[in-house]
Parts: sequence; structure tokens; C-alpha cells
Amino acid sequence: MKKYTLIGPFKQILTMAGLPLKGALSDQQLTIIENGGIIMVDEKIYSVGPYAQISEEANNLNVENLLILSDMVCLPGFIDAHTHICFGGIRANDYALRNSGKTYLEIAKAGGGIWDTVTQTRKASTLELVNAIKERAERHMNNGVTTIEVKSGYGLSVQEELKMLRAMAMANEECQADLITTCLAAHMFPKDYQGTVDDYLLEISTVLFPILKKEKLTHRIDAFLEEGAFSPSSIAPYFDKAKEMGFDITVHADQFSTGGSAVAVKYDAISADHLEASREGEIQMLAKSNTVATALPGASIGLGCNYAPARKLLDAGASVAIASDWNPGSAPMGNLLIQAAILGTFEKLTNAEVLAGITYRAAAALNLKDRGIIETGLMADLIAFPTCNYKEILYHQGMLLPSLVWKKGRLAVDV
Ligand SMILES: [Zn+2]
Repeated sequence: MKKYTLIGPFKQILTMAGLPLKGALSDQQLTIIENGGIIMVDEKIYSVGPYAQISEEANNLNVENLLILSDMVCLPGFIDAHTHICFGGIRANDYALRNSGKTYLEIAKAGGGIWDTVTQTRKASTLELVNAIKERAERHMNNGVTTIEVKSGYGLSVQEELKMLRAMAMANEECQADLITTCLAAHMFPKDYQGTVDDYLLEISTVLFPILKKEKLTHRIDAFLEEGAFSPSSIAPYFDKAKEMGFDITVHADQFSTGGSAVAVKYDAISADHLEASREGEIQMLAKSNTVATALPGASIGLGCNYAPARKLLDAGASVAIASDWNPGSAPMGNLLIQAAILGTFEKLTNAEVLAGITYRAAAALNLKDRGIIETGLMADLIAFPTCNYKEILYHQGMLLPSLVWKKGRLAVDV
């Protein structure tokens, strides 16, 4: 027997429906249902509309649960399309060094940076990693983030990458949010590897990739294209192999120097993430492509550098998602809404553009078609903020939190 739940009336429901995947958005384009209601059936949205109409519809259904609300604004659950929340240790020391004037590359060359986290993550047991992921995912869930991408990339060997990805699979079973996993074995070249960069990438693609498929650990392959990480030429055979095996490609692109976004577009990547260094040429290229441009304001804040050119990307016609990049080095804050709100003020983004960037456009950055919009048949991931006006959400810069969060139709957070 199907279980129907009616929720409402909400002061406003922002469905995020009917909006284009690409390009600039005005707030006038938003569909706002005043005094709206939603019927959920099991894990999905059954119908959404004005409460009077929806409650009438509910009379003909076997509605078990009825939740009366007041003065709330309902949105699709937020989606964080780029995180590194599977890690051991912290890097407070790096952070202090950086703030005292050392650069990211100087710290990395001195033995800090990503390699430090690799060492700490390798030391951690699978269970310790599972617990760390669950704790961070729970914090995200309380802030309204119902889907979280998580990357490996601190193992940097077949076995250690597997440990991370298996920990993510276990955490996914136990936490409320959905975890979308990504293999980032091409995060940096492991300094203890006996062989060349090409040897390493070949080993990962020929030994690890088949295990990922067999154990269904991920369908996404990512690489960090940057000076000090991987070059476009070294990554080509790696991405060729990933494509051939049917993996989705995503790229850490144009963070400090350009080159990565061209690779992303060439491989028809689902997303190109970072883009702080992207210039006019890269912006135009991304705008013409199917690749979602994902801005990571948390990394800009953590490194004290400029933001990705989100305004220019949107005006050129690109699809822009916004993600937290939550990681122990450059983006330790791990608060998507604060970061998205701040990016909005610096890049002059409308409410619609920011909210799209953490809902349906973030879903597109993960190639997910079943969420990010409040629409019949889609996943009932919903969040409700205690306000009468949706504009207050970004106005409070991340300090107004959702009082209620539904994950797959189930009330997961009730503050
Ligand atoms: Zn990242």
C-alpha cells in the first residue's frame, strides 16, 4: 500500500521548475506557489500546487500523515556537488602558514598540503573514515544539504583509494543524505610511487577502474589538472580509458592556471570545477559546452583568492553550480549556504542564480535527473525555512537554517 503524506500550507514553495539549465536567471523567472502544499508518495513527490487544491486532492487518497505548517518557505533539498569529506587529520598548520604568506605550492613542496592529508587518511581505519564521513554528512543534512558528492583522492594507491571508496559506500548505507562518490585517484602524483606519472595513471586505470565497476563503488572519474598535479597530455589516456569504460568525467580545472577546462570540454565532462583562473576564452568555451561550470567559493575564501567568474559564465550562457569543496586544506568551513550566499554578493548573482546553483544545476553537475526541483515524480527531498519570504534565505547569509528537512519523503530533521 502506498503511503501518502500531505505537507503544507507553506507561505511559499520555490519549485525551481521550468527554469533553463544554462544562462542568467532573474528572480522574476522563479515559480513561487503562495500558500502551497505538497503530497509525497513514498520517496517521491506526488503533486505540488496551491494548498486548497492539493488538500482536496488528498481527500481522494489514502493520506496517512498530515503536517500543518505555518510561515515556512519550502525549496528542493540542497545539493553539494563537490566535496572531499572523506579524510583523516586536519591542516590547521597549513592554514596558519598560508595566512603568514606561504603559497599553496610552497606549502605543498615543503611536505604539507594534500600529501599531509594523504598520510593521515592512510593511517585512518575504514571505520574511522566511515564515522568521519557520517559526522560531516549529518552536519550538511542539518543545513539542508540532502545530496553530497564525495571524492576519494587521499589514498593515491589502488588499495588506499579502494579503502576510501569502500568507506564512502558504507557511510552511504548509514547516513541520511545520499552520497555520490567520485574516484579522484588523479588528485596528485603520489611521491612514494615507484614509477613515472604515466605508470601511475596506467596502473590506476587498468587495475583500479575495473574494481570500481565490479564493486559498483563509483561511476565518476575526476582529475586535478594543474601545475604540480596532472597535465592535459598525461591525463588524456587516463580519461580515454575512463570514457571507454563508461565512467562520467569531471575535472578540477583552471584553479590556478588554465588548461583544465579545455580538457573538460574535450571529454564532454559532466562538470568543470574551480575555474578561478578562467579567462574570456575558457568562459566562452564552457558556455558553448554541455559541461556545468561549478564554482567553489569555499576554496576562494580558504585561500584568500578571487572567486570563479560566475557572473561572466552565466552571462555567456554557461550552467553554473555552486559547491563547498569541503576539504581539510583549502576549504575547511564546509558550509554550502554561507559560501553560496557570499559568492552571490561578490559576483552579483540573483537569488534565482544562487539557488539554482545549489539545487537543479548542482543536480546537473552530478548528472542526476531525479532531484533538485519540486515536481511530480521527482525525489521528495525538501527543506523548509522559518520565514515568509524566500529572499531572507540568502539575506541571512547562511545563518537562517531550515527547520525541517525531508529526505526521500521522510522527515530527517525537525528543529
Ligand atoms: Zn576539490
